[in-house]
Amino acid sequence: MARLNVSRMIERIEYLATISATAENGVTRFSFTDQSERANDIVQQWMEEAGMKVHRDGVNNLIGRYEGTDPYSPVLMIGSHIDSVKEGGKYDGVLGVIAGIEVVTQLFEREIRPNRSIEVVAFCDEEGARFHTSLIGSRAMAGQLTDEDLQTADEQGITLSDAMRQVGLDPANYASAKRDPKTVHSYLELHIEQGPILQEENQPCGVVMGIAGALRYNFCILGMAGHAGTVPMSLRKDALTGTAEMMMAIEQIANQYPPLVATVGRLNVQPGVGNVIPGTVVGTLDIRDTDEQRKLQVASEMLSACEQICRQRGLESRFELVTQSPAVRCSPRLVALIENALIKRNIKPLKLQSGAGHDAMAIAGVCDVGMIFVRCKDGVSHHPDEYASPSDIETATEILFDVVLNECIQTSEVN
Ligand SMILES: [Zn+2]
Repeated sequence: MARLNVSRMIERIEYLATISATAENGVTRFSFTDQSERANDIVQQWMEEAGMKVHRDGVNNLIGRYEGTDPYSPVLMIGSHIDSVKEGGKYDGVLGVIAGIEVVTQLFEREIRPNRSIEVVAFCDEEGARFHTSLIGSRAMAGQLTDEDLQTADEQGITLSDAMRQVGLDPANYASAKRDPKTVHSYLELHIEQGPILQEENQPCGVVMGIAGALRYNFCILGMAGHAGTVPMSLRKDALTGTAEMMMAIEQIANQYPPLVATVGRLNVQPGVGNVIPGTVVGTLDIRDTDEQRKLQVASEMLSACEQICRQRGLESRFELVTQSPAVRCSPRLVALIENALIKRNIKPLKLQSGAGHDAMAIAGVCDVGMIFVRCKDGVSHHPDEYASPSDIETATEILFDVVLNECIQTSEVN
């Protein structure tokens, strides 16, 4: 089988990187801006060149459709996003869209008609960099976007509604982006890993087992402030040393359940004075895991360990759950297809967990999802230094191509 046109892919990635609000320091391409519209226009052109019919849905998701022989068969979707964070990299999101277009281009150039239609989707606003609400395009497609989301404003005070109007969309129409699950068979996303495991394992790509869900707590530990010189150690109720012991316990528990991760990312010590025993500590605890049950069980183990530590030290503890996003499991069927494709090409079928959110997370509410991760240099992402090599991109896109053939070029349905 002929090779993919990797230099075309790289050229396109480089071209999109030039469409940025800033000339230096990486790519800044927020949604519903001149930059996002220019990026949509050029991606639309590439989709059309690959034989796709293109439309934009009610929230500006760009959808290219390559018609299959059976117009009633649920479609295979390949997608990712083309927005970026502030001063981000060239590959995050973009790679998955360009890879999808390349796969369809190959089919088109070889005059292969799939049974089911293929849709390549460039989702609008995955990052949440502008409105501080993420996965806007994919959540709209899954019917999870709300009126409340439309009222969130960017730093200039422009609401999502207003921003949609500025690119010619009617925000009242956002619900029209929702897709009937009966019309979508499966969803595939190729994405850079944004972590160091593939590099460490010396593998070009791997299969994603699931996307971690998060639990975020705000906590407050109350002790007793006092003079740092006069209160003997045995009579202290030091909120900070209590918190330190809690943090060590959290780390120890998390270590027992890899790949679960737990982070105390913010601490505020009061009164925060050098000669006063800390009376109050306010902080955050973030727990992520792809196993929903385990995440909840470990969270309760951590919280009771913290409570016990506080009790022993005469401290009062309060934990408030502020964010809860469920973990998403990738479809075992798609995981197996990706694994087989990896094995066929003599690549170790490394199983990865995604600690970061992706459009696949929302689309899991519509259909089966599968993800391929591509090695990125030093695991760096959301940074101008983000890099994936042409040969890794080629290998991963070949894997995607194999899976697409499996999903679309067959006479009987695989379930
Ligand atoms: Zn991304």
